[in-house]
Amino acid sequence: METPKRQLAELFDTLEARYGQQLPNWPTDPYFFLVWWHCGYPASDASCAKGWESLQSRIGLEPDPLLAANPSKLALALKPGGMVPEIRAMRLKEIAERVQKEFGGDLLAALKGLSKARARAALKKFPGIADPGADRILLFGGISPVPAVPSNCTQVLVRIQLGQEHENYGRTYSEAQEIIEANVPATFDARIRAYLLLKCHGQQICKRTNPKCGACPIAPSCAYFAGKMRGRPSPAQRQ
Ligand code: SF4
Repeated sequence: METPKRQLAELFDTLEARYGQQLPNWPTDPYFFLVWWHCGYPASDASCAKGWESLQSRIGLEPDPLLAANPSKLALALKPGGMVPEIRAMRLKEIAERVQKEFGGDLLAALKGLSKARARAALKKFPGIADPGADRILLFGGISPVPAVPSNCTQVLVRIQLGQEHENYGRTYSEAQEIIEANVPATFDARIRAYLLLKCHGQQICKRTNPKCGACPIAPSCAYFAGKMRGRPSPAQRQ
């Protein structure tokens, strides 16, 4: 009989065969990720990329030009990324100042010198960073191979292994983390690959509302699809 570990490894292979090899399309350095994250609002790959490009060409991305920039010019540079550019401009200044003053200008090196718990706590003090953001930075920054889960796709792994996700976001996030921790090798490569494939699948097919199970390559192995639900009936059972 297949173990859950083996089964999940095969599912990731199937997803990779469907979507191809995935690469992060955001900066993986912790400081630059924090800048990128505030380049767009609501934050998405597309909005952050637009704001990032504009910021890079008009002001610069390093702490010094961000600190020296006039706040209204900084806000103007962030405008292509979406709403509340003035607030995002102030947050970028806060990030730049803290990185200079508290982390000696090198956030990555400073985080690598801390325990995992202290690094996570330090990251969560930056504006807009909660557990999912901190885990993403720790994993992609090469600081610790934590079981990070894409924040807008927490439902995917839980559906595959357990059935219906919880309405409580924190609970679903924790369950997805537990599945990764138990079944995906604790290496940067394996967990980055898992994160990127789950993100891609959650955005394209296993969407939060109305997952397209009929088009899903892993439906035969999915507990949600099979109707092995906890608490609520599956869409298949409701029909
Ligand atoms: S079968 Fe449906 S619920 Fe399961 S992984 Fe595919 S899209 Fe998601």
